[in-house]
Amino acid sequence: ERVGIALVGLGRITVNEMLPALAQCRHAKPVALVTGDRAKGLKIAHQYNIPESAVLDYKDYDRLAQMPDVQGVYLGLPNHMHLEYTVRAARAGKHVLCEKPMANSVAECRQMIDACRKAGRKLMIAYRSQYEPMDRALAGMVREKKLGALKEFVSVNSQNMGDPQHWRLKRALAGGGALPDIGLYCINAARFLSGEEPNEVIGNIWSTPGDARFREVEESCQFILRFPSGFIASCSTSYAAHKSQHFRLNGAQGWAEMNPAYAYRGLKLTVSRVVDGKEQATDIQVEEKNQFALEMDHFAQCIQQDREVHTPGEEGLQDQRIMEAIYESARTRRAVKLTPPGRTRGPE
Ligand code: NAD
Repeated sequence: ERVGIALVGLGRITVNEMLPALAQCRHAKPVALVTGDRAKGLKIAHQYNIPESAVLDYKDYDRLAQMPDVQGVYLGLPNHMHLEYTVRAARAGKHVLCEKPMANSVAECRQMIDACRKAGRKLMIAYRSQYEPMDRALAGMVREKKLGALKEFVSVNSQNMGDPQHWRLKRALAGGGALPDIGLYCINAARFLSGEEPNEVIGNIWSTPGDARFREVEESCQFILRFPSGFIASCSTSYAAHKSQHFRLNGAQGWAEMNPAYAYRGLKLTVSRVVDGKEQATDIQVEEKNQFALEMDHFAQCIQQDREVHTPGEEGLQDQRIMEAIYESARTRRAVKLTPPGRTRGPE
């Protein structure tokens, strides 16, 4: 029997990506919808064979407690709602798969972790790249020392935002600008691929004066993460530059480049090393799979088998600590030290 999921917030990520992915899931199925737009909810419910009685308004969210079919919730909501809808889900006895960024502050992340721990429910953050086969293949190569000792990670994740009224450009809703929304992918990839945690960060933020989009949140952010081994990540993220998503991971004996990286589909990976005395770049072939389906199936299987999730709240918390340190560094114009976290990741 597949695990029943309530999808909360019928925005772009839920409707365009997670709901279609659920059709491919082997361990999860959509059984309820929570939305402020009843007409939209009913239309989607018909499409996915969800009963009309399982389309709830936000104000009826706590009724999930009386819906035993619903074992987990998927939160596709603006960032400032992640805390409240996680805490209420846990109180209603539901496991939580929450979209990234986990929340708008370290303090909020801690409250989410505590609420789920107290309720004995799982909390997983939707770091889809960690479930995506090409990223995992690269992490495997790194662990097998195919690139030698890691030295540099250089990455850009940028896009050009439109509407200045969008919630992503409101500080109270989004928590920040480009950094928490898309720069986060660079942070998480540097940590996931290296398996290391940074002990120092340097950050810079910039907003073009007079640009109506960036009255409240930063337009761009550049940051350096230093890791104990000497591995260094240099990253840039912008909300006002043409869409650009890539990284290069450079080891002592080879490099790997993903371009595009972080995308929903169409990822490309090239690895270059010296073979028989000659530099040889190879495109790595990995069968493309739906990352959203893999992520959701992982969540569902952890519920079914009562296993620890691979990307728990602690993983989101650690990225939030790093982002707060980047902002502090940008504000103070100094490097900011970070203490090591406890374990942030569960088994794969
Ligand atoms: P969206 O704006 O398309 O959808 C947000 C939904 O929340 C809408 O249905 C909206 O009606 C609803 N909502 C409820 N209260 C709201 C309020 N006060 N203000 C605005 N909307 C409100 O956003 P999205 O792109 O689907 O993003 C949702 C979440 O998913 C965000 O946390 C985002 O960071 C995350 N996300 C993750 C990925 C990924 O690849 N993992 C991609 C995109 C978005």
